[in-house]
Order: sequence, then structure tokens, then C-alpha cells
Amino acid sequence: MKSLKNVIWLLVPVLLCSYSLSAQHKKDKKNKEAAAVDTVKKAPVKAGITDKIKGSAKSEGLFTLYLDTAKGTMQLYIKKEQLGQEFIYQSFSMGGPTSLFLNQNMIRTTWVFKIKKTYDKLEFLQANTSFWYDPANAVSKAADVDVAESVFYSDKIVAEDANGYLVAVDGLFLSEKLDQVKPVLPPSLPPGAIFNLGNLNTSKSKYGKVRSYPNNTDVVVDLAYDNPAPLNGGGKDITDARYTRVRMQHSFLEMPKNDFRPRYDDPRVGYFSQEVDNLTTVKVADYKDVINRWNLVKKDPSAAISEPVEPIVWWVENTTPVEYRQTIVEAGEKWNEAFEKAGFKNAVVMKIMPDTATWDPADIRYNVIRWVSSAYPQYGAIGPSFVNPRTGQILGADITVEWRSGSSTPVFDDLFNSVPATEAPEKHPLALKGNASYCTMANELKAQLAAGMSMAEMMGAGSSEIKEMHKQFLYYLILHEMGHTMGLNHNMKASTMLSPAEVNNKELTHKIGLQGSVMDYPAINVANDRSKQGDYYTTKVGPYDVWAIQFGYTPFAPSNEKAGLDKILSRSTDPQLAFGNDADDMRSPGNGIDPRVMINDMSSDMITYSKDRFILVNTMMGKLKEKYSKQGQSFAELRSRYGILVNQRFGMAAGVSRYIGGVYVDRSFVGQNSPNKPFTAVPKEKQKKAMEVLSTYVFAPNAFAADSYLFPYMQMQRRGFNFFGNPEDYKPQSTALMVQQTVLSQFFHPTTLSRINNSGLYGNTYSVAEVFNDLTAAIFNADLKTSVNLYRENLQAEYVRALTNVVNSAPGAGYDNASKAAAYNSLKKIKTSLGTAASPDEQTKAHRAYINFMIEKALAVK
Ligand SMILES: [Zn+2]
Repeated sequence: MKSLKNVIWLLVPVLLCSYSLSAQHKKDKKNKEAAAVDTVKKAPVKAGITDKIKGSAKSEGLFTLYLDTAKGTMQLYIKKEQLGQEFIYQSFSMGGPTSLFLNQNMIRTTWVFKIKKTYDKLEFLQANTSFWYDPANAVSKAADVDVAESVFYSDKIVAEDANGYLVAVDGLFLSEKLDQVKPVLPPSLPPGAIFNLGNLNTSKSKYGKVRSYPNNTDVVVDLAYDNPAPLNGGGKDITDARYTRVRMQHSFLEMPKNDFRPRYDDPRVGYFSQEVDNLTTVKVADYKDVINRWNLVKKDPSAAISEPVEPIVWWVENTTPVEYRQTIVEAGEKWNEAFEKAGFKNAVVMKIMPDTATWDPADIRYNVIRWVSSAYPQYGAIGPSFVNPRTGQILGADITVEWRSGSSTPVFDDLFNSVPATEAPEKHPLALKGNASYCTMANELKAQLAAGMSMAEMMGAGSSEIKEMHKQFLYYLILHEMGHTMGLNHNMKASTMLSPAEVNNKELTHKIGLQGSVMDYPAINVANDRSKQGDYYTTKVGPYDVWAIQFGYTPFAPSNEKAGLDKILSRSTDPQLAFGNDADDMRSPGNGIDPRVMINDMSSDMITYSKDRFILVNTMMGKLKEKYSKQGQSFAELRSRYGILVNQRFGMAAGVSRYIGGVYVDRSFVGQNSPNKPFTAVPKEKQKKAMEVLSTYVFAPNAFAADSYLFPYMQMQRRGFNFFGNPEDYKPQSTALMVQQTVLSQFFHPTTLSRINNSGLYGNTYSVAEVFNDLTAAIFNADLKTSVNLYRENLQAEYVRALTNVVNSAPGAGYDNASKAAAYNSLKKIKTSLGTAASPDEQTKAHRAYINFMIEKALAVK
């Protein structure tokens, strides 16, 4: 009864309210809200705020929080003047299952929200920031008509006073209303494939630290999840899969009040951005995407170079090993070389967090470089930032370096752990969307470092040289992650700046860098001849980095901004400024177009560089056992080092394979006088050269001959009963096949084959039929008159299987007719040539009979 009465009573002010609104519809919004407020003031007197906050701890700031110290419940005080204003929401994971990307201090969701009063409730609404309307265009009057704000929380006002309202917020914070912590699993994933938190248990969930400052309010919560019957134990970081805790931080930030002007994105430079559609244009591609960048303002606007009013201050957390701190500080300060060219002195300030510091590194007002030891590092290192979605202004950033504890030499537990991830983490089914920049570089880089250290040691490098190599590695890692926090995304084309003859020229690399940018994942630069060794990694920002910072940060007056930026952008045709990010992730076979935009490569001539590296790896194989079977130790290290070297072959093979069917991409605009067209097929002779290198070092019968003597020693150290699910004997054929398959899967990807044919219409002269001819020759000719060894049996069978798959593929598989025809003809030719083969032994006879059978079956009319 009572509630019904309330409803009826409430209807009256609503009617009054809407009447009064319609009467004054021309007045501005503020007045409307004032009218609503006036109406409610006549509501029955609510309990006083003082009553409701008895026994609560108060945190005063942007929003004032009252935490009931007896019950653990929380109330939020919202000032009336805050109603209708925009605020920024930012979430962080502060600890949770690493497999769900809930690691410590991960920057997660960012959006803009408002609080509105409706009847006796406060409503929290998420704004849609995806659209832009030119205020000069009449269409802007209809702005946002089809864009509804999302109400993510609504609750009754507990109490009010003259200045504001008190509202209970347990339902907001101790829930997933702000950030959807528990991932929605794609239905295609089999149950148990990914660790499942189960259901949120609100009664076990509680508040952690709360902080409120004038510009931000942070609430840390411990969310408890129960899963009575977990199918997936979740790894060693999960104590008990039935009961998991996720620590989250919810931050409410004031919308920055400054004259920061958004800078619009340009496809020729790689910045993270906020995608915004212009709904008041008919022009093609007239986006209003704003780049992520810090608000740097010159102290002295008239000076050519000035200190910024507020520099970008970084703190090296006091958990960082003491011996690395100075290197991190120096590497960070190197970015100032780039900012100086954009008009700023000391834009980046690096500080070491004193052990006596009283501030919390999780406080979002501090940008922290932290060093953590994670059970299952997902990223190796990450350099995310959080931004104002309205303008792209970076509001804060953190760098986390995840490091498996132990020595500075990364040692892999198992051979296959050293294989670089072929799948980018952003493609992970649970990957977060938004501004976080997932960066697997540290993992790739660590694999490269491990290889570099092994090769250099075997070539006689002493401990001081190894130390120097490690220092360069750390330098590069920090430069790269810092680059992300400046707003830069990857530039996987940057390692192509210097020729193989130049990469070891220290005079040159100390002047302009080893690469155009630190935003690449390069192969470690190890010279085959130690006396010629240059830098292993670049230790300075490259020309591209300087240029990108100029584009993003050079201050301009509004009147000359366009001209100024155009002038900077006009330089994009300079080869030192080459740019290509990993938007079409080139790590996976079939992806990527431009072979120069690749990870784990080096120099402007990767084919030559890779040849040198294959030779070096094969030479080092011969020294491996002597160097790494150590007195009184098991063979675990030898096995690990072997994997590290094989990984080099893997990376080189993948890099070279992209040249076949590759198309160079140039993003210059019309009128920039670029010597290139936007798309140019890789010249045939270059593609043939790539094929030759792969024939010799990946497909040839003796490609893995240097390894054989090691196989009897490839023993893991026994631990309990655990041999990683397999019998412990070593399986060399799988290792070799893995390297060969990475190449075959690139060639046989429908996208690659179709591109070879398509680019034939605009310049490519290496047809699929010729590619297959050369592959057939590389895979069959050398042992046509002799025995076929185990590597080649696998390779020939897999190659024939791949051809068969093309011929017999379903229409939806994506193989075009020209590829099918070429595959069909290749199978016929292989069959004919096998008719002339000599098989001196029983296994070779059996193998050829099987190949013949496969071909006949494939060609049989169904
Ligand atoms: Zn990265």
C-alpha cells in the first residue's frame, strides 16, 4: 500500500514537471534541471545526510565517499552542480587470473559518463563518444538523435541536503555494472577451454582502498567469484579454481578543463586514436579520429624550445631491481631527443620512487614503470595509457615489465615455449578492446635476446659484452614501451632503414639509430663476424619516432595548424620515416601484405640478412653441445639453447616467406611526389631469391643436418612425473616440420595465393603456377634419384597434402580458380616425375608409394 501511495504521489510532480518544461522549452538545459530540482524539493522530507553517514569513514574529493566501517557498505555523495556534467570512467585490474588478462595494473575500460536525477533516483549514464557533428552544419541540430545513452546504474536517493545527494553504491562498485570483469566466452569455445570465474558472490565481495582527490575518486574492490564445478584449473596462479578473487579499481575522473585541442589522426603516422565518425560530411574518409597524446603546453610559447608547463613525469617503482634502474631512467630520457624537435625541452622527466615514498604506485596521478614477476606473463611488457575519449588527451600511463624471476638470461622450460606467438594477443578471444596497447614485444625480444646471447657466447663474447647486450635490450624495451605511452603504435617497417652492410656500422647507428623507430620488434642484430659487431639493439629514438612526435606534439596556433601539420606530413615519403603497423597482423600466415612490415626481421634486405643468420645458426649448432653441456648439470640447458637457435630459423623463415606474393604498400597522398604507387608487387627476381633461400635453408635435405648430433642429448630434466604430457624422448621431425610448415602455411593461405593472382593484374610476374613449380623443384628434385630422409618425407607429404587441399577445397574455402588449376597441374607433374624416381631403400619406396596414392586419390573424379 505504502509503495503504491508513493507512486501516485510521485505522478503529480512528474506532470507538473513536464508541464513546466514544455512551457519553458526554449530555456537551456541547466534551467530545466533546476526546475526538476525545485519540484523535488517539495517531496517529503528525506532523512538527513548526517544520520545516514554515522559510523562511516569519509573520503572527500571529486566525489565524496562514505564507507560504513561496521557493515562495509558504501555511499557516494554527488554535488548538485555535478549533475549533467561529463566525467571519465576508467577501470584497472589490480590482480586476478592472468589467463583472463586481469593481471595487476592493467588499464581496461574507459568511457564518458554523466549522472542525472530522475524522480527520486540518480541515474548513471554512459555517453556515446563515437560521433562528431560540425556545429556549422544544420545536421548538427539533430545530433545524437539515434544515439541513446546507456543507463548502467540507477538507485534511489538516500538523503539530500542543499548541495547534493547521497546514494548507495554497493550495487555499482561491488558488481560488474562498470566493467564487465567476467568475460563473455564465444559460443565456439569448448567448455573448459578458458578459465571460468563462475558467478560473482556479492556477499563475499568487499571494498579495498578508497582514495578521493580533487580531480579523481578511486575505489578498489575485491570481487569474489565462485565456480562450484570448474572444468579448467586455471594454472598455477589460481589457488583454488572454485574460489577466485579479482581486484579491480574503478576511477572516476574529472573531465579535464583546459584548452587542449584534439589532433586528428593521419594514416601516414602511427598513433593510437579514438575513432570518431563525422556525421556532417559527405566526403569519403573524412574521419574525426583523434590521436592519443599528452597535453604539452610550452611555458614560454614564443620560444623555439621551451620546457612544458607540465612535463610527462615517470616514476621507476622501487620494486625494480637496483641494477636496472639507471638504464631505465636513461632510456626514458632518450625520448627528449624527439620532443626537442617538437619544441619541448625536458618533456619527459624520469624519477626513481624512493623507498620512503608514502604515495601508492596504483594512484592514477602517478605514471609508474613497474617490474613484476608473473607466473604466466601474457605480454612481457605493456605500455598502456588512458585517455579522454572526447579529445584523445592522455591522462595517465603505466608500464609494466613482467619478468620471470631469476637470471637475466631467459631460459625456456621447453623447446616450444621459445617459439614466438603466431597469434597476436589482440586476437585472443578475451582480448580487451579500447586503448590498451597489447605488446608481446618483450616476449619476442626475450627470445631474440636469448638467441643473441647464445650465439655471441659461442663466438667467444665475454661477460662484459653479454652485459652490454642485455643493457641494450633493456634500453630498447623501455624505449619501445615508453613510445606506446606517448601514443605511438607499432611501426613494424622500421627495421628496414639500413642495409645489411650498414647495420653494424656503429658510427652510423649512433647517429641515426639502427632502425627508423623503436616501435618495431626487430631480430637481434648479431654479426656473423664478431670483429664487425655493431649495436645489438638501437638505443635511441629513430628518425621516424622524432617525426611522429613532431606530428603529434608540435604546438600550433589554430590559424596555422593545418599548414604546419601538412608540412610535417609531406615528409612521409622519406625512406627513413617508413611506417607500417600491425593492423592486419602479419604474425599469422596469410596476414599482412607488405613483407617489409614484419616482426623478427632486420635491414632493408631481409633475404640477404636471413641467409647470414641461417648460416650463423647452422655454424653455432656445431658448437652448442660443447658450450652448453655443463659439468655436474642435466642436459636441460642444452635442450633449451637448442630451442632458442631453432627459433631463429623459425623467425627468419617466416620473415622471408612474406616476400613471395608480397605487395609493397605506400601510404603517401596524391601530390606528395612519392616515387611509388600505393601498391607495387615485389619484383619477381626478389621473390625468386626468397624462394632460393628457403629452398636451401628450410626445404633442402640437409637443411637440419647440423642438428643431428645433438638429438641423443635432448633431454629435459625430470620433474616429478611431468614431461609436459609427452614421452620424454626428443622428436626432431616435429621441430623441423614446424619450421617448414610456417612457410607452407604462408604460401598455401588462400589470401596469399589469391593476392599472387590479383597482383598479376598490376605488375606481379611470378604466377602461382611458377611458385608451385619452384616449390616442387625445391621439395622433390634433390632426392629424386636417392633415398628420401625423414625430414623430406614429411615435407613432401605435407606439400602434396597442401596442394590436394587446394584442388579439393570447398567453394567457401577462398581458393580461386587459378590457384586450383596450378595445384592440380603440380600434382600431375609430381606424379609424372615420381615415375622416373629411383628408390634405393624400402622406406623411400614406401614413401613414394604413399605420395602416389595421395595424388591419385586427390585427382580421382568424385
Ligand atoms: Zn609494442
